[in-house]
Amino acid sequence: MRIDRVEATSIFDTRGRATVETTLFAHTFSATASVPSGKSTGEYEACELRDPDGGVTRAVANVNGEIARALTGQRFESLDALDAFLVSLDGTPDKSRLGANALLSVSIAAMRLSALLEGVPLWGAIAKRAGTTPAAPRLYVNVMNGGAHASFKLPFQEYILVISGETPSAFSMAQEMFTKLGERLGRVPMGDEGGYAPTFDTLERPFELLAELVKEFPNTSIAIDAAASQLFHDDTYRLLGKSYTPEELARLYKSLAARFPIDSIEDPYDENAHTDFTRLTAMIGEKILIIGDDLTVTNPTRIKEAARNKEINSVLIKPNQIGTVGEALQAVREVSAARLKTIASHRSGETEDTFIADFAYGVGAYGLKAGGFAQKERLLKYNRLVAIGDEAGTV
Ligand code: PEP
Ligand code: MG
Repeated sequence: MRIDRVEATSIFDTRGRATVETTLFAHTFSATASVPSGKSTGEYEACELRDPDGGVTRAVANVNGEIARALTGQRFESLDALDAFLVSLDGTPDKSRLGANALLSVSIAAMRLSALLEGVPLWGAIAKRAGTTPAAPRLYVNVMNGGAHASFKLPFQEYILVISGETPSAFSMAQEMFTKLGERLGRVPMGDEGGYAPTFDTLERPFELLAELVKEFPNTSIAIDAAASQLFHDDTYRLLGKSYTPEELARLYKSLAARFPIDSIEDPYDENAHTDFTRLTAMIGEKILIIGDDLTVTNPTRIKEAARNKEINSVLIKPNQIGTVGEALQAVREVSAARLKTIASHRSGETEDTFIADFAYGVGAYGLKAGGFAQKERLLKYNRLVAIGDEAGTV
């Protein structure tokens, strides 16, 4: 592939913060990509380059300047070669010189452009590149926001309904469940990820409400993202004003998993609490998914390590945690090699880019976490999955 022109600009994400959007041109084709942005970011993520005032002027300038000069007119044997070139051009272990946001916008646009040039759907191109079998993911629909995404109104960051994605009715069922929950909650604020942000007196109440819904709809269950790095202070975890030791927290998770139809718990402990992860996975990992996010940060080396120590049995994959599509696909390969499950994920600050839906379908991910239905940027990802289902039937 030969890139003729590179153009980047700054756009706003769902929180009204600036993020990078890049367009690549080749022949008469062009492809655009924009990158999301996290709020409860992991300590070991690749560096999102921000100006002191929070803008992305330097990241955009890096794409329009150094990256554009290096790519324009260059012919790349493969997308892997292009991504490796971007990584070496940056030259830092955490992509802090040019910015993981700058690099990923180019990497996704290149993947999209290559699919266009080949005349194949993006999910098909991803599957071919990754050597995976495409399949519809389960839907992880965020319905209630807490933690850092809703000023800690609820202790855990995300309360999610898991819906089997293979059935054609999955989307209408998700929509119906989301609406029903809204009716039961009444007027409440909304959180960062397009879910409701209510307040309850007890830890159990959100689970009771979701369990009632799950009873009414077949093939559904409950997931949470505890995002526990955010709850960890002075060696204990603070939940609704009460402190929990790691052992007490394990007992709480075990009891919740016994009483409610729980599919998974993401980041149950702080990102550095490796032995606590291992103990919990040994305790309840046969029954539910224990998902690494801040723990593993889509980093192939960290995933391998966590798998070796049996810290988790599933991994969240967020391409912007690592900075190129090639490395995110390598992360998926590590997940599969360790026989763990892949859940592809959006970020809490999103754009209209639907790449993550094609990514999830293309790698045959177990699930896709794409937020709640109250934000267009999240809905677009679910709509893209529906369109992919149609394409997959005809291609
Ligand atoms: C998450 O923690 O899984 C998440 C999507 O939130 P953020 O993008 O803020 O990390
Ligand atoms: Mg998370």
